[in-house]
Amino acid sequence: MDQLDPSNAPPSDTSLSAADIERFGPDPVGSFRANLAAVEERIARACARAGRERTSVRLLPITKTVPAQVLRCAFAAGITAFGENKIQEAMGKREALGDLAIDWSIVGHLQSNKVKYLSRFAREFHALDSLKLAELLDRQLERVGCSLDVYVQVNTSNEDSKFGLHPDALLSFVDRLGEFPRLKPRGLMTLALFSSEMARVRPCFALLRRLRDEAAARHPGLTGLSMGMTGDFEEAIAEGATVVRVGQAIFGKRPTPDGHYWPGFAKAG
Ligand SMILES: *Cc1c(COP(=O)(O)O)cnc(C)c1O
Repeated sequence: MDQLDPSNAPPSDTSLSAADIERFGPDPVGSFRANLAAVEERIARACARAGRERTSVRLLPITKTVPAQVLRCAFAAGITAFGENKIQEAMGKREALGDLAIDWSIVGHLQSNKVKYLSRFAREFHALDSLKLAELLDRQLERVGCSLDVYVQVNTSNEDSKFGLHPDALLSFVDRLGEFPRLKPRGLMTLALFSSEMARVRPCFALLRRLRDEAAARHPGLTGLSMGMTGDFEEAIAEGATVVRVGQAIFGKRPTPDGHYWPGFAKAG
């Protein structure tokens, strides 16, 4: 028998539950690897269509609702950066997976009483949306001696259900980020309108890009655009996304309704 490449070996200390197997299939490592390759291919094609280098776009896999023991399979499939929406869920997984070298990102709204948890282990935060939060994060990071890459979330779809700054409030917000030396502003983030009509989705991405151009003129580090998910990442790449946050195309459909993550969420046509 051929020697197994260690990166191909199934995780040894894992036993998947019947529910895990029902949701992710009998060979999660194999299916995550295949899904990842398919997403990679779509990213590469979207880059080529837009005349962009493949290296200008980073894929951030979003692992919310995927149980820790299944994430061992994701790691075995070559995924080493995990994005989570909720801090409690992320912390539980991080505890369970402490033996793996994983880069954790938090991409969802953070309540101020959770700041101390985030500063302990997250490498990136994609949902900075208030000065109060910036101040608390900065203070906590100072305490633990770390810094944090942050993306400022903007509400580009004009929906009450979405978190993020109003576009008109962005530039004055960005002007104050220098007050928080532990925060490393990397760019802007948005959730586009949830719609299958790309003609309605695309303007959200275009707006974020315009805002980024204005913000970067005042804050040179703010060049990133974290935008695009399973349903719309190709459109986002066409509009300049530098980070796409993709969950379901890699891990399959989620059992929880999206309203769990976005209060008041309703699918817009
Ligand atoms: C869940 C989530 C995503 C990924 O959505 P998919 O439809 O699974 O690709 C992206 N960004 C945020 C903030 C999320 O919560």
